[in-house]
Amino acid sequence: MHPLEAFYEKKLICVYCSKPFTSLRVRSRFSIPYQVDSDFCPHYRAGNYNPHFYYVNVCPECGFAFSEEFSDQFSKGTKEVIGVQITGQWAKRDFGKVRDIQQALESYKLAILAGSLKREKNAVLAGLCLRLAWLYRTENNTDQETRFMGLALKAYEESYLHSDFTGTSMSEINVLFMLGELSRRLGQYKKAITYFAKVIEHKEGKDEQKIITRAREQWRIAVEENRQGTM
Ligand SMILES: [Zn+2]
Repeated sequence: MHPLEAFYEKKLICVYCSKPFTSLRVRSRFSIPYQVDSDFCPHYRAGNYNPHFYYVNVCPECGFAFSEEFSDQFSKGTKEVIGVQITGQWAKRDFGKVRDIQQALESYKLAILAGSLKREKNAVLAGLCLRLAWLYRTENNTDQETRFMGLALKAYEESYLHSDFTGTSMSEINVLFMLGELSRRLGQYKKAITYFAKVIEHKEGKDEQKIITRAREQWRIAVEENRQGTM
């Protein structure tokens, strides 16, 4: 049994079909991580709830899945493609109740597909891939964790190149840090060192001291890992 007081219902409007529906959110006092990894992946003890299970909203009517970072603008032709590839195939299902890990994983895959067809910002797609990698990490599924970290890295690289993180929850320093840390975790140490250096030398760094300090630590680790790898 799940204590219901750990959750509240959030009222939402589908970005695609405009129908209202509800999805659960975890109250913050029920989601206190006992550990946060160097890439910000949180870990929760049993009895606590992972808010990332509920990060994606899935419209029960049409199957369009989205995070709160999705825009409500659809570029030309994308609504038609989504109509064929998502909503036309959808058998009505409800993701609006307490989710198990399988439903959580599926919600992310639906949102990555919807976001790709919609041509959502790379920063938003990267955030979905990253969180999905984190869920696989907590399931000890290293293959899938690596696969989605790789996709997150690619999407953050695109985002950085085109500055499409503007207007999302990510600043340029955040994007650079994630590029460094994902490269490091994927064994691309030289690339990691370059990105961490960009964080450390960033002109807006004085306003984001915490992440600068973290980047210095991760830079040192990446340098050491690179040295051991080339010995
Ligand atoms: Zn819908």
